[in-house]
Amino acid sequence: MPGSNYYKPRGIPLSMLEEVILAVDEFEAIRLADLEGLYHERAAEKMNVSRQTFGRIIESAHKKVAETLVKGKALKIEGGEFEMAAMKKFRCNACQHSWELSHGTGRPKNCPACQSDNIHRAEEDRGYARGFGRSQGRCERGAAQKR
Ligand SMILES: [Zn+2]
Repeated sequence: MPGSNYYKPRGIPLSMLEEVILAVDEFEAIRLADLEGLYHERAAEKMNVSRQTFGRIIESAHKKVAETLVKGKALKIEGGEFEMAAMKKFRCNACQHSWELSHGTGRPKNCPACQSDNIHRAEEDRGYARGFGRSQGRCERGAAQKR
């Protein structure tokens, strides 16, 4: 997911702000076209949508961002047509094995590599682009075993 999913004008309580919801595909469209500077054809390919659909998504995204800035609204990024691989990362203190679980699967009790219960939650994985389009439950065990 995006590093932060909420933007609001400073000094105004959220309860007093109108909220604009930016879908995650709209966020991705902005990232690809505006930040990375990809042509719409290429960005559409990356998102597995048609050029027409991409045009519609980015137009909507621009309008929402403009509305947020011009009218001083809050912007929330969520949902969309894509299922995001939102991962929680854990690390084992005993063997340094690290692995990721998709959100909603609950906290693991043991390290899957050495069964130690001496594990901790690693820092939030902010790899939005990396997670995009990937399947859930990626495991880093292979990397750990090579040592
Ligand atoms: Zn372990």
